[in-house]
Amino acid sequence: MKRGIRLTSILLVFICLSLALLTAWQIWFSRERALHELNVANLNLVQALDNYSEGAIRQSELVLLDLAERLEQEGKDQVHLARLQTVVQEQSRVLRLASTIIIYGTDGNRLLVSRGDINSRPNAADREFFIHHRDTPSTDTFIGPTIKSRLSGEWVFTVSRRLNDANGQFSGVVAITLSVEHFLHLFGSLNLGAQGAMSLSTSDGRILFRHPFREQDIGLNWSDSPIMEMLREHNPVTALQTSRIDGTERLYAFRRNDRLPLITAVALGRDEALAAWRRDAELFATLILILLLAIGVIGQRLIVDIRRRSRAERQLLNAREELLDANARLEILASQDALTGLANRRSFDQTLEVEIRRAQRRGSSLSLLLLDIDLFKRYNDRYGHVAGDACLRTVAEVLKQCVRRPGDLAARYGGEELVVILPNTTREGAEAVAQSFMEALEQRNLAHQGSPFERVTASAGVASLKPGSQDSVTLTLTLIEAADQALYRAKANGRNRLESTELATD
Ligand code: GH3
Ligand code: MG
Ligand code: MG
Repeated sequence: MKRGIRLTSILLVFICLSLALLTAWQIWFSRERALHELNVANLNLVQALDNYSEGAIRQSELVLLDLAERLEQEGKDQVHLARLQTVVQEQSRVLRLASTIIIYGTDGNRLLVSRGDINSRPNAADREFFIHHRDTPSTDTFIGPTIKSRLSGEWVFTVSRRLNDANGQFSGVVAITLSVEHFLHLFGSLNLGAQGAMSLSTSDGRILFRHPFREQDIGLNWSDSPIMEMLREHNPVTALQTSRIDGTERLYAFRRNDRLPLITAVALGRDEALAAWRRDAELFATLILILLLAIGVIGQRLIVDIRRRSRAERQLLNAREELLDANARLEILASQDALTGLANRRSFDQTLEVEIRRAQRRGSSLSLLLLDIDLFKRYNDRYGHVAGDACLRTVAEVLKQCVRRPGDLAARYGGEELVVILPNTTREGAEAVAQSFMEALEQRNLAHQGSPFERVTASAGVASLKPGSQDSVTLTLTLIEAADQALYRAKANGRNRLESTELATD
């Protein structure tokens, strides 16, 4: 039953562990799935923002190209510039994104602006975009860093192009300033939660602007971030990392533009993004915990029940064993003679019948030794009945010691007559047993003043046979009768002696 309890405990532990592991796996798996879905949403959004930024800059590029061609073909004299003034004002109005369109001369002084006072504009020779175009022969579009407009005070970044003269020499710059506020307006209209963030950077890792907007973030350089490395290998890239700017852990999606030197980033606050998953996971874990507790309680009751049943079974087994013991004791009592401890007459009768049949089957010898204490009546008369009983017990004790073979059976035949069944024993063997008994009795030297031998003696009659095919009951009676007659002869011939007879069989 202990095994039952152990198995039940193992089963319960197994169920609880499996449930706990499955729950952990399910929670982990649903977190991975939630992260995957969030990444997909981020990637879609970053793609859309990238497309939008590209479109806006492309529009500017077309305007720059048109202006550059006009200037290179028509020159920069006052007449042409005056004509261009109307063109750029119109283009600036159509472009909407553009704060201002500006044409600079070789010295960085503006030749033309789409709006505002031309004379109030300071020189741009120190601006990065101007220096870049002056020093780089390429006429590719340059996206400059975000700067604070010296005229309007608003945050802008420039999309610019180099102007060449007929000899291919630097002859100025044509630039469009794009309003950061315009982009922030669009980025801010998207709901990324309280911890969400979006940014546009140049491909060398300088932030053009970031939403939510903070002045100090403008121009921040993140070129040393591992993301840069990853973007060189893959595009787009997703990552879960802590922001350098505000220390918030976010789910990021970065996209490098295929044609322009731009990187767009979209990020969701990790805690915020996973809030729904966390709520579900907590609910699920609580339910499983309740289930585990229920299993624990039921299991504990089960074990208590098994223990109770096992105790009852043990008690029943003990009772059964006690009953069996009592039965065995009863059986012994039923087959034993109370005074001498030898087998009783009933046991003798049953055994003799069995042994005769066995001897018949095996064709082996069987002997019967009948003993009778000599002049025992006189012993009783002289020493009393109690002493007689004690003497009888002693003689039985002596007999027991002489009859040692497992198959032999010593019994009290009746009164002071004892009998021994000696299976598989010839007449000579039986005589030897009788002799040894009589000698042992002599050794004991029990006083018997009423006897001519002055000690307790016994006469013995041995009958032996090798049973044939006769009826076993008849054979039994014949054998007893023969032993009795031999005993009678021993008495008649003076007692304290042995007579034997061999029965003839067919
Ligand atoms: P013998 O056999 O030598 O001819 O003489 P005996 O005196 O033994 O003769 P008998 O067989 O006639 O007497 C048997 C006596 O044994 C009778 C009885 O007093 C005594 N006896 C028989 N059974 C018991 C017993 O259980 N206890 C005691 N104390 N005496 C017994
Ligand atoms: Mg007798
Ligand atoms: Mg006698």
